[in-house]
Amino acid sequence: MTQDELLEKILSSSELPTLPTVASKLISLTAKEDATLADIGDLVARDISLSAKILKVSNSAFYSFPQQIGSIQQAVSILGMNAVRSLVLSFSFLNIKGGKIANRFDFEVFWQKSLASAVAARLILEKVKGIDAEEGFVTGLLQNLGELILARTFPEEYEKVLQGIGETQADTCVAEQAVFGADHTLVGTRVAKSWGFPESLVAPLEFHHDPDKYSGSNATIRTTIKAVYLSDHLTNILFSNKPEAYHKKFQKEATKLLGLSGEAIESVLEQLHLRVKEAGTYFNLKVQTSKSVQEILQEANIRLSLINLDYDQMNKQLIQAKINLENLTRALEEKNKILDNLANIDGLTGINNHRFFQNALDQEISRSIRNTTSISLLFIDIDFFKKFNDTYGHQVGDFVLVQFAKTIRDNIRQYDVLARYGGEEFVVILPETNTEEAMVVGEKLRVAIESTIFRDTREEYRVTASFGQACCKPAVEDNFSKDTLITHADQALYEAKEKGRNRVVAFTPKKKWFSF
Ligand code: GH3
Ligand code: MG
Ligand code: MG
Repeated sequence: MTQDELLEKILSSSELPTLPTVASKLISLTAKEDATLADIGDLVARDISLSAKILKVSNSAFYSFPQQIGSIQQAVSILGMNAVRSLVLSFSFLNIKGGKIANRFDFEVFWQKSLASAVAARLILEKVKGIDAEEGFVTGLLQNLGELILARTFPEEYEKVLQGIGETQADTCVAEQAVFGADHTLVGTRVAKSWGFPESLVAPLEFHHDPDKYSGSNATIRTTIKAVYLSDHLTNILFSNKPEAYHKKFQKEATKLLGLSGEAIESVLEQLHLRVKEAGTYFNLKVQTSKSVQEILQEANIRLSLINLDYDQMNKQLIQAKINLENLTRALEEKNKILDNLANIDGLTGINNHRFFQNALDQEISRSIRNTTSISLLFIDIDFFKKFNDTYGHQVGDFVLVQFAKTIRDNIRQYDVLARYGGEEFVVILPETNTEEAMVVGEKLRVAIESTIFRDTREEYRVTASFGQACCKPAVEDNFSKDTLITHADQALYEAKEKGRNRVVAFTPKKKWFSF
C-alpha cells in the first residue's frame, strides 16, 4: 500500500472519528477572517452541555481568573478565540469512544498520556514570554491522534506496531514506518487538515517529533511545535519506566529549544502532576499518576540504588559462597586425608597398620617386577611378650610397643616400610634388598632392640625380638605369590622362635636355616 492509498483508506474509513458539529463549525468559523468573538460565542452557546463544560473550566484553577465568568460570550471575550476553540476541540476528542481497536492499544492510557501532554505543552508555553499558550493544550492533546486513527482503521496491522515498540515515540514512528510505510505524524496531520484544522494546529501534529523540520516563518507555531515536542518528555517522566532519562532530556532541551530558565523548568516540573490531575477532573478522565515528578524521580533513584545494592550484595554473597565452598573443599580434603591416614595408621604405635602393609607390599612387588629387583620381608615378633604384660601390666606393655616401633623405625632406611602386622608382631618391607643385605638389616635391628632400655617414669625395661626373613625376585620366579612370600617370612620367624628367640632367621627353601 502506498502512502496515498493508505491515507485514502483512512480518510474514507468508517472508523475515522467524526468531529461533532459544533467543533467542525467552529473550525470553519475561526478560519474566516471576519469572524467575531460574538459569532463564536453564539455558536458554542448553542451546545448547552459543551457550554457548561467550558464555563466550568473557565472558572476553575485551570485559568484562575479573578472574576467569575457567567456566560460563554464572556468566556470567549476573556479567554480569547483560540482558547475557546482549544477547549471545544479538547472536549470533542476526549469524547471519542474506543470502538474497534488494536487489542494492545490501551485507549484509556492513550488519552491519559495525551491529556498529560496537553497540560505539559500548555504549562511550557506559559513560561515563554509573549506567547498565547492556549493552543498548546489542544495540540499537545492531539499530537498522537494519528496513532489512534491507525489503530482504529487497521487494528490487526497496528497490533504488529505495538508488538515492536518500546516506550518512546521515536520507536513508535519507526515501527509504524516499518508496518505502514507512514507514521502517525503524517496520518494525524492529513486527517486534521481534512477536518479543516488551521496551520497553527496542524503543524505541531506534523513536526512534534522533529521541531527542526518546521520551515514555516510563524514564530508562535514554531514555539508551539517545540513545546509539544518537549511535552512528550514530561509525559514520559510520568508514564515511562525511565523517568530520570526523560527528566534530564527535558532539562537540557527546554533550555536549548525555548531558552527556559532553570527556575521556569523547576516550576513546570513542580506543577505538572497537579495540573494533570486537575485537568483529569475537568475533562472527566481518571489519571492514574498522582505522584509528583520529584516523588517519581526519588522512587526511581531508590529503585536504582536497590538494584545496585542487590547486585552488590549478590556479588558479596556469591564471593562468600565461593570462599565457603573452597574452605569446605579444603577441610573435606584434609579430613579425607586424615581418614585415609587413620585407615592406614595403627592407633597405638602411630606407624602403618596391616592394611597399609598389604597395599605397600603390592606396590613394592610391582616395582620390583618392573625393575627386576629383589625384595625382602622381615617379620619381627617380641619375645615372651605375654609374660612381659603379665609382669608389668598391659599399660607398660603398650608403652613398650610404642617405643619398640620407634626403635625399629629409627634404624631403617626412609624407603623401607615398617608396619604393625598385629599384636606384638611387626613387619618391614625392604625394597631392592637381597637375603644377605636383609639379614644385615635384621641383625642390626635385633641388636638395637636388645640394647635399648625402655624407660617410663617408674622403671627401665628391656625386651628382645625374633626376626624371620624372606626374600624374592618376583620378575624371575615361577608361580610367585605375595602370600607365599609372607608365609616364608612367617615360617622363618617361627624357626627363630624355635631356635631360641632373639635371633634373625632367613627362610631357605631347603629348610636349611642359617643364623647369626
Ligand atoms: P613369643 O615369644 O612366642 O612370641 O611369646 P609371646 O608371649 O610374645 O607370644 P604370644 O603370642 O603368646 O603372646 C603375645 C602377647 O602379646 C599376648 C598379648 O597380651 C600381647 N599383646 C598383643 N597385642 C598387645 C597390645 O596391643 N598391647 C599389649 N600391652 N600387649 C599386647
Ligand atoms: Mg606373637
Ligand atoms: Mg611374641
